[in-house]
Formats: sequence, C-alpha cells, structure tokens
Amino acid sequence: MLNIVLFGPPGAGKGTQSQKIKEKYDLIHLSTGDLLRSEIGAKTELGLKAKKLMDQGILVPDEVVVGMIDNKLQEHKGANGFIFDGFPRTVQQAGALDNLLESHKDSISGMIALEVTKNELVQRLLKRGETSGREDDKSEEKISKRVEEYENKTKPVADYYKSQHKFTSVEGIGEIDEIFENICSAIDKLPR
Ligand code: AMP
Repeated sequence: MLNIVLFGPPGAGKGTQSQKIKEKYDLIHLSTGDLLRSEIGAKTELGLKAKKLMDQGILVPDEVVVGMIDNKLQEHKGANGFIFDGFPRTVQQAGALDNLLESHKDSISGMIALEVTKNELVQRLLKRGETSGREDDKSEEKISKRVEEYENKTKPVADYYKSQHKFTSVEGIGEIDEIFENICSAIDKLPR
C-alpha cells in the first residue's frame, strides 16, 4: 500500500495537490479539516464543539481527529492506500496513526512536506478568504493564530518522520503542475 502524509502549513497547497495525487495514484484522500467541516455542516454535537475551536484557528483535541481517521480506515479496508492531508498535526496524532496502521498490518510510506514562506501563506489565505466562506480565512489575526499553532504543535511532526527516515521536502511555491511533478518524483521513490 502507498500511504502518504502530505505536510505543510495552512495555505501550503495540500488540498489542491491531494486532489491530483489521489487521482494519479488511486488513493483515498483523508482531510481531517474536510471531515470536521462536514460534521459542522451536518450540525452534529462533535461539529458544533469543533467549530468553536476551528473558528479561532485552534487545533481540536487529538482524540477527536484520531477517532475520525480510525473510522475511515475501517470504512476503506482494501484501498490502494491513503493520502493524509492536515493530519497528523501533533506528535501524539502521529504516534496514534502509526498504531492504527499497524493494527491493519500497514505503515506510512513517507511524508512529503510542501515548503512555503510565511509571507506567501498569509497572502494566499487572505485571498482564499474572499471566496472560501471559511471563518478562519477571514482575518489576518485568525490566520496568524493558525500559523502559530502550526509552528508550536505541528512542526515537530516533521522531526517524527525524519527520525524514521521517511521525510522528503518539496518546493511549494511555483506553478501547480510543476509542484505536482516534483511531488510525484518524491512519491515514486517511496517503498511500497
Ligand atoms: P484545515 O482545513 O486542515 O486547515 O483545518 C481547519 C481547522 O480544523 C484547523 O485550524 C483545526 O482547528 C482543525 N483541524 C483540522 N485537522 C486537524 C488535526 N489533525 N488536529 C487538530 N485540529 C485539526
């Protein structure tokens, strides 16, 4: 199986590139942000609780997202593999993901990290906020909070995969198709 963690700060282009990777390699795309937004849309109790944190740019508790990923892995037994987008976002989530995959006799093939400067991220997210309707894209203050959460809690996840020799970084600024080609070269070098 091919299990990829697509990593990078908010606005790095993970969602856009995930769609292309999913099609080319026939993988299941799991975005915890999308899963949480669909809980909000369905007005579930989980969604209502998560919305309060998400609107402020704060991470939701680890057990909430790990539980959602657990359900999806069960639902898609027999898939060619998964692309994890926006997950894991803490070292604890990364450990939980390893345990979940191990229980399916599986593992992460590699992490691919999109490198984008902070200035570019803020500009991209403010622009996206004009059309996305996302509360957390709407002000520079909320965007800064999300980048701060990334710096403090999520960046260490890269070291987690570096220590397992599963880390590759790819330039995240440029043409979408050019970035995609570089991601594909990295994916094609991963063990399966
Ligand atoms: P995203 O769509 O990936 O930018 O996520 C939007 C928001 O959902 C984040 O700012 C967090 O509040 C929440 N979220 C998404 N994925 C996670 C995760 N893996 N762990 C904790 N919170 C998450």
